[in-house]
Amino acid sequence: MEKSLIRPSFVTQFSCIGSECEDSCCYGWDIHIDKQSYKKTLANPDLKGLAQTALKKVKRSEQAWAKAVLNQEGACGFLDGNKLCQIHAKAGESLLSHTCRTYPRMSHMKDGDRYESLSLSCPEAARVILIKPDAFHFERMSVRHNNEFDSTPLWAQKAHDYSIQLLLNNKLAISHSLTAIGILMKTVESVKAQQQDSSHIDAMFRQLESLGDRGELQQHVAGFNQDTELQKKHAFTSIHLWLNTNKPVRGRARFELINQAVCRVVDEEGNFSVKQLNNAWLQHALPALEKHEDLFNRYLFYYFYHMNFPQVDKLSPTEAFRVMMVDYFMLRCYLAAMAADKQGLTEHDIIMCFQVYHTSRQHKANYSQYVVDLLDKCHFDDLATILTLLA
Ligand code: SF4
Repeated sequence: MEKSLIRPSFVTQFSCIGSECEDSCCYGWDIHIDKQSYKKTLANPDLKGLAQTALKKVKRSEQAWAKAVLNQEGACGFLDGNKLCQIHAKAGESLLSHTCRTYPRMSHMKDGDRYESLSLSCPEAARVILIKPDAFHFERMSVRHNNEFDSTPLWAQKAHDYSIQLLLNNKLAISHSLTAIGILMKTVESVKAQQQDSSHIDAMFRQLESLGDRGELQQHVAGFNQDTELQKKHAFTSIHLWLNTNKPVRGRARFELINQAVCRVVDEEGNFSVKQLNNAWLQHALPALEKHEDLFNRYLFYYFYHMNFPQVDKLSPTEAFRVMMVDYFMLRCYLAAMAADKQGLTEHDIIMCFQVYHTSRQHKANYSQYVVDLLDKCHFDDLATILTLLA
């Protein structure tokens, strides 16, 4: 049957920068080697000797037949002194394992169509997605396959498409778009629970658009002025501590730079302070981000596309919205802390914050559920409260 392959231009623009990479994927994490690549590497006369010490057979599955043995610095044993991969150099790309050949390329299937993407845990991928021009042109190619697939429920299709439209609505500031998406997700949740039919999602979307056109959504946002400073402090410190405790070996030194910046955001009594963080955002981060004014729009557009929002990690639509708001909040906090520490932000700092956060986040399979449970404990349970994470 005829299906589509959707490829954003950030995928075509990406190219690995190898030894120039500031956080190479050849360091500090389990690099699995599939059975075929393992056998071919051992059979290659130029690699055989090295492979005997650089590979360890684990036989977990055909895909994870062996893993790369890391040296004391955490580097893959196939890297030479110039940080170049010996498999690639001596035998070419075709002998690389599936993981090494494809990372950071990823894809997800929806209704039998394949949507290509990149992982933000690669610094160069993060640079292309967040900074480079023309990263978000999409091409659609026809492909044929006979694989079975599940159909996306109507509520999920509408929620996804309308969320992207609200995000890209240039009459709305990002905080207004997110407010509208939060309101929309409440309707989506009740449609998913079959309390209303899916036409209510269309009606709510139209209503939100016209509220935005008339400037009434903006007034709505201005009304969300509850004091949640203590809740935000609790949420931020818990998540940061959790990420710091569970951080993967890869990126550890870069995470520590952010951690040190966070530790210096303190009040007169030496306690970590969300108020100081907000001041840092306004005084240092925002001016430094003037050249990147579409940074968070690009991030969220990528996020919605890449995660297939709101069908994220088996979460409900409102839970997916709350997790996305926390991702946005944590990144803003890290950028603010770095900006306060360095009295500004370079492009390198910006990429580091996004890449390090996503490396830590993506390496933890239960991260989303952890965040949902934490938000419940901190009483971030209604929309008005969760929207205070924007300020
Ligand atoms: S993290 Fe990305 S740019 Fe760096 S070495 Fe790996 S694929 Fe290349």
